Amino acid sequence: MKKWKISLLAIIVISSCQPQTKTPRPEFALAIHGGAGSIKPGQFSPVEEKEFADKLEEALKVGYKILENGGTSLECVEKVVNVLEDSPLFNAGKGAVFTNAGTNELDAAIMDGKTLNAGTVAGIKRVKNPITLARLVMMESPHVMMIGDGAEKFGEMNRVEFVDPEYFYTERRWESLQKILEREKLSLLDNDNDYDNDNDYKFGTVGCVALDKDGNLAAATSTGGMTNKRWGRVGDVPIIGAGTYADNNTCAISATGHGEYFIRNVVAYQISSLIEHARLSLEAAADSVVMRKLVKQNGSGGVIAIDKFGNISMPFNSEGMFRGSFKAGEEPVVAMFAN
Ligand code: ASP
Repeated sequence: MKKWKISLLAIIVISSCQPQTKTPRPEFALAIHGGAGSIKPGQFSPVEEKEFADKLEEALKVGYKILENGGTSLECVEKVVNVLEDSPLFNAGKGAVFTNAGTNELDAAIMDGKTLNAGTVAGIKRVKNPITLARLVMMESPHVMMIGDGAEKFGEMNRVEFVDPEYFYTERRWESLQKILEREKLSLLDNDNDYDNDNDYKFGTVGCVALDKDGNLAAATSTGGMTNKRWGRVGDVPIIGAGTYADNNTCAISATGHGEYFIRNVVAYQISSLIEHARLSLEAAADSVVMRKLVKQNGSGGVIAIDKFGNISMPFNSEGMFRGSFKAGEEPVVAMFAN
């Protein structure tokens, strides 16, 4: 092959692998999710669909305002997740699912892409907004992760808002647990697919990723985990690199789905790593992990991802994912179903 042909080929290959800035970088931007799962048209009434869409839009607007006023991406992701945690619609905070023992055990994580600082909590039973506790772990302690009673004691010391465990009771989640227990008794549930195709199991983990005016990225995720979880099970959400990750050099990621697969595949870090080391674009990196690697293993779920150029990607391999995005100067966009 002639020399010029080789160089042309090299240019084509290199340019297709470089992180892409398809549109000019927005001044700031954010994306959110409210969980992935078997979410399909006709499943909710128009009134219910509107409730979900309105809450997602409300959360996006809260985040947009913070970023527009010069707030940090870190503040944005915490406050946006607070809005979703306070809603009974999502599996986080108020609407958390029940464990096998009929309790609620909440997990959350936050990460600052500028410093790579992170804070995570797991097995929380009495804190109203676990993401706020996770942020305190990051800001006010020398640690990254705290669990159970110790995390709550730390929360008391830092005057976080506590609620009676009954605050987390919602009839819908309680009914889901009862249905699953009943089916378990009849031995109708015995494999991973039941988890992935059954919305009684999980529905509505929440997350937010943001890029602020200073170019700093942050990610936050909060969840009740999976219905009927046992023995102190902790999912991917509070595992840095699995369900949550942010690095100013690459991207910010928040995941939702069958947590065990996201832990085994270190999903959030793997996407960041493909951008950093394999020079893939955000979209190519996120697709390669969510739409190929996880699919091969039947690991159901999705991610929201934003890169340092303000590109947003929200791939999911489940039937649907509650999601939304809002870029500076544009209109908010929310969606539930595929495309
Ligand atoms: N990833 C969460 C967990 O496994 C559940 C979810 O996102 O629906 O705990």
